[in-house]
Amino acid sequence: MSKPHVAVLGLGTMGAGMAGRLLSAGFPLTVFNRNPEKTLPFSRAGAWAAKSPREAASRAEILISMVADDLASRDVWMGENGVLVGAKRGAVLIESSTLSVGWVKELADAALRCGCEFLDAPVTGTKPHAASGELIFLVGGPINVLESVRPVLSVMSREVIHLGPHGSGAMMKLINNFVCGVQAASFAEGLAMVDAAGLDQAKAVRILTEGAPGSGIVKRIATQLSGEGGDPNFTVRLMAKDLAYAVQEASGKGIRLQTAASALEIFKKAVAAGHGDKDFSAVTKAFNKA
Ligand code: NAP
Repeated sequence: MSKPHVAVLGLGTMGAGMAGRLLSAGFPLTVFNRNPEKTLPFSRAGAWAAKSPREAASRAEILISMVADDLASRDVWMGENGVLVGAKRGAVLIESSTLSVGWVKELADAALRCGCEFLDAPVTGTKPHAASGELIFLVGGPINVLESVRPVLSVMSREVIHLGPHGSGAMMKLINNFVCGVQAASFAEGLAMVDAAGLDQAKAVRILTEGAPGSGIVKRIATQLSGEGGDPNFTVRLMAKDLAYAVQEASGKGIRLQTAASALEIFKKAVAAGHGDKDFSAVTKAFNKA
């Protein structure tokens, strides 16, 4: 059977890796990115570079968005030249960005009204996992729709987990990320105490990473402590966005996420200090005195 035509909208850190996997697996591919320069390596490798999400929609049966936040997602799907203006009836629209649950549900309803299918399918894993096809998709939406696109999701992932109706994937992703953000912020505070107390940082980091507090997130930040690092895997700004969405979502359910709210303040402090576009491990710099 011939492979369906897929479009990837958003070729940032994650979207670029995902589009690369689809190309390598032989899917006919259309790409779109707001800054068109990022499409060049893909058009050279055989993808079609669309000038708008609307144009991408006119070519593809399956469209995957991987953009920054709710506003970016709204632009891509529902903007003047968005996907919903040009989508084919029966197309499957997949939103893989980390977004608020309210927006994802609104988008699902709009997609259904246009005669399209919709899945929220945010991911865990970061830049290297996107590039090597080892993401985990957290999916909300009808199981039959998920099954229809499973071969596409599979080339980008090591697991696809169905969580329930529209919005459940988005909700699970926010819970996952706020727990990560809280650990990152608490490690940053711990290191500030180590510093203020004049303790040996190398010894302290070894105790914290090899002992009970040494989660995957804490260990990952510890590896980034020396130096600025190269290209970020996941930025401070994006983690602040996820914490803010999680706090908002929980509040709508009558839960006050006190740890996430405190972590958000620390991430905001790191953004204000000019670290927003650095890897989220730079949250440790929120406490730098200089
Ligand atoms: P990124 O590198 O910052 O890329 C963001 C993408 O969004 C770029 O393609 C950017 O286009 C596009 N964009 C931003 N505003 C837009 C707008 N108004 N209209 C159209 N496009 C717009 O982000 P990323 O790290 O790939 O993350 C993408 C999403 O996945 C985010 O929701 C993030 O939270 C989530 N996520 C990230 C990771 C990770 O480890 N990085 C892991 C899991 C989930 P330009 O190039 O034109 O700016």
